[in-house]
Amino acid sequence: MTAGVSYTRCRLCARRCGVDRTRGQTGFCGTGSRLRIAWAGIHRGEEPLICGRGGSGTIFLSGCTLRCFFCQNYQLSHGNLGRDTDVSEFADICLMLERKGAENINIVTGTHFLPSLAEGIRESRERGLTKPVVWNSSGYESSEYLPLLNDFVDIYLPDLKTLDSSLSASMFGVSDYPDAAARAIKEMAASRPLLRRGSFLVSGLIVRHLVLPGLLENTRAVLAWFAENVADRALLSLMFQYTPPAGPVPQGELQGGQGERGEWKRRVSAEEYGRTLAMLDEFGIEEGFVQEPSEDAPPCLPDFSLPDAFPGGLAYPLWFYGKNQAEGAREICSQEICQQETCCQKIDHYQTRHRQARHRRTGHREIYDQADGM
Ligand code: SF4
Repeated sequence: MTAGVSYTRCRLCARRCGVDRTRGQTGFCGTGSRLRIAWAGIHRGEEPLICGRGGSGTIFLSGCTLRCFFCQNYQLSHGNLGRDTDVSEFADICLMLERKGAENINIVTGTHFLPSLAEGIRESRERGLTKPVVWNSSGYESSEYLPLLNDFVDIYLPDLKTLDSSLSASMFGVSDYPDAAARAIKEMAASRPLLRRGSFLVSGLIVRHLVLPGLLENTRAVLAWFAENVADRALLSLMFQYTPPAGPVPQGELQGGQGERGEWKRRVSAEEYGRTLAMLDEFGIEEGFVQEPSEDAPPCLPDFSLPDAFPGGLAYPLWFYGKNQAEGAREICSQEICQQETCCQKIDHYQTRHRQARHRRTGHREIYDQADGM
């Protein structure tokens, strides 16, 4: 296990439960000390600079340190769907993703498995992994472990969900999410310069923010913070894919009686989309990604009980928790990625779900141009 970090007296995320996960105790995330994975494959729905041409080699972990009630990966974050694996099998998966053309290894919600993931990436590198590693997280990181992340992460892809401590307390049961996430994101920006090679990112920080229906003041505060603190060193990804949850919706205690007004049961409206874009101009945020609104489109929710978990070919399965229980990782898809016309058509189709914002400012472009020659 990585020196100085372990599952005993767990403080791996900012929740700091203090439980001994090696002895069967579980904290808020509900997971033990064995790495638990649900799904891995080639994902084409991430930001264009993350997907590149070959797609992002995405690994979905089980469990979560926040468990938003509207989480699209509800089966994993709330239900812990997945299978206990080990570091060697994780390395097998990383190498399989690279062999299948992935532009990077994209670890989704891995904070609560940090020791195993650090070890797994080290073993993967020793066995020949060359692709950059993406840390795709809620942003609820423990400050003491950020140096360890810097040892193996090339691209940070954290959420900044809110800077409102009372909203955070209502949604996640902790009021310190804003402090923890803002501190972590500042450190991520300081440690990873934006570098692009061709059509994909090899280093840097992209901050994601999901716009919530009826909570545009929440978004305004996040955008203001981004502009003031990291806009010169990071990209913003503004997401409009909020989908009303199938399960229970919180009632009036959330900000402004959100539940009582039924806001959580609808998507972000076209009018809210327009007002949010106006905020980008207001705060001078000119580089990054904006998802197209999906007010009338059918929900695009994954179903992780199936190997082909993502609808419409958005992602391509290569490893699934329900297969090969005794055999370890095995490729479950026999198609050759990127050698079929349909795959390439899907790349184009799904990249239109994000559009790159205007590039009037030169700063990032100059950084990119230097990297282009690598
Ligand atoms: S990783 Fe899990 S057990 Fe550890 S502090 Fe966070 S929520 Fe608690």
